[in-house]
Amino acid sequence: PDFTEAQRKKYEELRSELVVDTDKLKRLQEGFTRAMDDGLANYGSLVPMIPAFVVNRLTGVETGTYLALDLGGTNARVCSAELCGNGEIKIISREFTVPDDKKVGEDKDIIFDFLAECVEIFLNAVPETRRDEKSASQELLMGFTFSFPLEQTAIDKGTIMYWNKNFDLPGAVNQDVVQLLQAALERKHLAVRVTAVVNDTVGCLLANAYRNPKTSIGVIFGTGTNAAYYARLPTISKWTRQHDIAADPATRGATEMTVNTEWGAYETDPAVLPPTRFDVSIDRRTRNPGKQLFEKLISGMYLGELVRLILVELIDERLLFDGHSSDEFNRAYAFHTSYLSEIKKDTSADLEGTRGKLEDVMGLPRGTTTLADRYFVREVCQLVAERAARLGGMALASILSYRADELREKDAEVAIGVDGSLYEKYPGFDKHIMDAMRETLGADLVDGKVTLGMVEDGSAKGAALAAMLAKHKL
Ligand code: ADP
Repeated sequence: PDFTEAQRKKYEELRSELVVDTDKLKRLQEGFTRAMDDGLANYGSLVPMIPAFVVNRLTGVETGTYLALDLGGTNARVCSAELCGNGEIKIISREFTVPDDKKVGEDKDIIFDFLAECVEIFLNAVPETRRDEKSASQELLMGFTFSFPLEQTAIDKGTIMYWNKNFDLPGAVNQDVVQLLQAALERKHLAVRVTAVVNDTVGCLLANAYRNPKTSIGVIFGTGTNAAYYARLPTISKWTRQHDIAADPATRGATEMTVNTEWGAYETDPAVLPPTRFDVSIDRRTRNPGKQLFEKLISGMYLGELVRLILVELIDERLLFDGHSSDEFNRAYAFHTSYLSEIKKDTSADLEGTRGKLEDVMGLPRGTTTLADRYFVREVCQLVAERAARLGGMALASILSYRADELREKDAEVAIGVDGSLYEKYPGFDKHIMDAMRETLGADLVDGKVTLGMVEDGSAKGAALAAMLAKHKL
């Protein structure tokens, strides 16, 4: 399009700040791998690398019906999951909104009593909840997806480290989440036994593994970003230093264990990728300034706001919309991340869809956007989304590099299960991830060997699968 000279110059400037080329990706990968190594060796590292105690692989032929409970930020979901034995899982579920007054307070049990009530309502409403997979005591087995930081010591033991996502129940911190939930279920006299607790990324990993046993990684690109993977046990040296792998009941006979990376906590090396003024500005206005910086470059929560901040700078420099702004453009987080997807999808010659977004939705005066403006906006959206996807790909490549020996084999196959609306909805997010992995690891280790697969209902399916895997401990 006919960018003005000033627009072209600014565009090149933004490109140089936001494009993560192959050379930068490789250098970032070195730093990211070092940070993961540090997390595997030491507690309290920047990237926590939390041992997650799933030590078995799935085959996809497992059968049985299990309950799953998923507590995310805003909703709780109770499910009955039937493992069909052919990689398929049938789910019956019911969702409950978690009222704000159950998220905070002195009574630590308030949330667990609420969850137990949800389970009770579900069991009463779904009489077909089959009871053919019972423990000796005729109980239904349940897996719990708990998407808050958990210090786990076994698949069914984990103490709450701290709350986030607007939860604040100080009495529950440092307490065992499985015991808290089990006690609440018992107060309601429900014949349900909680046999496993998993993080949502581990759930995603397991859900994909049931369908494709070659799955080694689960990753989320949604409101936040995080990944879990099967680590070779000896690499988790902070744990193996203190436990006898062969004797400890949690790892007896195992060679691998899942690790929840909590990679959102990483900080990229500023010498390679200095945070832009837009990144700094976003970070400063969050609830957790200086924290979760990697997540703030990548996840759906922030990408729309990054685009808005860039566009506002362009407006102020009179490089867009003839200097016009709007109430929406002036309001933080008014430019939704979903708009990046919609604008990317708009391939019409005159970018009519983009005009609609800018003028009808974002409230710019009608007729103020030129074709060049709209192209510029589209390019900005792409720069922000591509940076996010390529950084995610770099991080996945770092995890894959732990299996480089395997990937060098001729018919190697490593599957990655992916969950999250950003990945699902932004056109080409998967391609950018693949490109980044290819550029860092080399095409010979990636092409035809590494696959990305979208997981549906990962949290629910994963919790049920974890409950099944933990059954042998009863
Ligand atoms: P969560 O991660 O909260 O469990 P999702 O995986 O649905 O749930 O992710 C929601 C996030 O995905 C939203 O915060 C939003 O930023 C992003 N998102 C939603 N719709 C789209 C879309 N069409 N394109 C890109 N990102 C989207």
